[in-house]
Amino acid sequence: MPTFVYMTRCDGCGQCVDICPSDIMHIDRTYRRAYNIEPNFCWECYSCVKACPQHAIDVRGYADFAPLGHKVRVLREEEKGSISWKIRYRDGRVKEFTFPIRTTPWGSIKSPSDYEAPDADALNSAMLAHEPTALKVEKLPALPPSRNKQV
Ligand code: SF4
Ligand code: SF4
Repeated sequence: MPTFVYMTRCDGCGQCVDICPSDIMHIDRTYRRAYNIEPNFCWECYSCVKACPQHAIDVRGYADFAPLGHKVRVLREEEKGSISWKIRYRDGRVKEFTFPIRTTPWGSIKSPSDYEAPDADALNSAMLAHEPTALKVEKLPALPPSRNKQV
């Protein structure tokens, strides 16, 4: 479901423009409000929806699979550390989902070049970078050999 902007709520801050990985959130030069220039290219990552401080961005399904009349709203509450999605179905049913969010300050994430280069053995390891320490476990869970046979 691609995004669209309620222009009456948008204040033109540009946060959605900065965060969009598809570079499709633009500021209208005349009205100074954001809009999605190409919904077909939306990754549906919803980064812009979560980032908008004015809750001005909604998502809308394509008419071929999402019947008209439904609605999706998002509410990001940084004080509570949560993000909530409110889905209103066309028949009036409402479902709400709340998830914890991680609010990492801008610029606080280290770039790959800030880490020490991995040694050559890392190429032969099944681990991804910084595993298992970044997962805060001593080792990754694994199936016992008896359950690891091909059938
Ligand atoms: Fe408008 Fe929200 Fe985008 Fe800011 S983040 S420009 S308020 S839609
Ligand atoms: Fe860009 Fe993602 Fe928002 Fe789509 S959902 S407009 S790709 S930030």
